Amino acid sequence: EDQKKLHQQILLNTALENKDIHNFRDEFLSLHPYDQARFFIEIDPVHRKQVYYFLSPKEMAFLFEQLEIEDEEYRKLLSEMLPQYAADVLSYMFTDNAVDVLNILEKDQVASYLTMMDQGEAQEIKDLLHYEEYTAGSIMTTEYVAIEASQTVRSAMFILKNEAAKAEMIYYLYVIDEEKRLVGVLSLRDLIIEEDDTMITEIMNDRVVYVSVSDDQEDIARRMKDYNFLAIPVVDFQRHLLGIITIDDIVDVIDEEASEDYSKLAAVSDMDSPSKS
Ligand code: ATP
Repeated sequence: EDQKKLHQQILLNTALENKDIHNFRDEFLSLHPYDQARFFIEIDPVHRKQVYYFLSPKEMAFLFEQLEIEDEEYRKLLSEMLPQYAADVLSYMFTDNAVDVLNILEKDQVASYLTMMDQGEAQEIKDLLHYEEYTAGSIMTTEYVAIEASQTVRSAMFILKNEAAKAEMIYYLYVIDEEKRLVGVLSLRDLIIEEDDTMITEIMNDRVVYVSVSDDQEDIARRMKDYNFLAIPVVDFQRHLLGIITIDDIVDVIDEEASEDYSKLAAVSDMDSPSKS
């Protein structure tokens, strides 16, 4: 396994050295985005520049979603890219992840990226940027699948097929009324076992659990753990569906919380042991 990794690294580095776009793409795009990210973050800026030329903004967006780096490093990577390329990368990311990155940039930098994006996309991101840190709104994504209660299974399947590529998760379908109020939920499993002409109202679960857009992220983490959901819907005070929070973002919240607790513990134990200082 290690041998294979090393071999891949050599191939990739050689392709970069030789500005060999064909071999680079062949090898690089066959890697999982997580492994792409690991390779990418280790190479020097000159080689990274080459990678920006070799990959489309969409391909770079997948890689970007997998990075786990410090704020400073995100700023550095974005500044290495041509501004329009960076804006395109951000707009291909899921909105919640794009917002995380934009939140660490200067205000005028954010504004400038937003003007270079598709206007609809820019507006969705702008809306998300307004939510307070640590609230549901700040970690939710707007890429979910919603269907209307008045639809049949057939038309719901049609919508799902159309939205699937863009949605962050497709296992739960959220059911809304004409006013976009959340009225139900069903899983993909619930949907595909039904007959085409069955009405969604007949099969949906109308006891849907949701969180409010201003709820604290740690409370949401606990709730998701209790219910064992893969995602939870986020609503405003009138129950309008605004977004969803997926389990991967909750894992990040739990990680953050754990490392904060750990730092506190470490601080306490430092005070306890004067011999250490
Ligand atoms: P199980 O875990 O019971 O085997 P499953 O594998 O089909 O079920 P789950 O994700 O556990 O998948 O559960 C699917 C069910 O969860 C769906 O029928 C759906 O009604 C329900 N569900 C999903 N999200 C919510 C929610 N926010 N509120 C209430 N119910 C929900």
